Amino acid sequence: MSDMSLNCRDCGKEFVFSDRDQAFFAEKGWQNQPTRCRDCARAKRANMQAPRQMFPAVCAACGKNCEVPFEPREGGRPVKCLECFRADRP
Ligand SMILES: [Zn+2]
Ligand SMILES: [Zn+2]
Repeated sequence: MSDMSLNCRDCGKEFVFSDRDQAFFAEKGWQNQPTRCRDCARAKRANMQAPRQMFPAVCAACGKNCEVPFEPREGGRPVKCLECFRADRP
């Protein structure tokens, strides 16, 4: 086996699927090649484990204090609490 060059689906950079890694994959019985470079794979794993960062906000519809998964910006789209956000959708 020899090193393979693959493109990361997240950052698009080329990364090396080394023969050691290929052997490791084969040992595990994994048929697929990795789709992400080491950094992105690690970032994704960390992302899945870490709870999403929430920002305090005030709901534009009901005025309740709430938390949203993005940073509310002045002049940006109105922030709504989960209930109002849900109620808004058909
Ligand atoms: Zn990457
Ligand atoms: Zn609300």
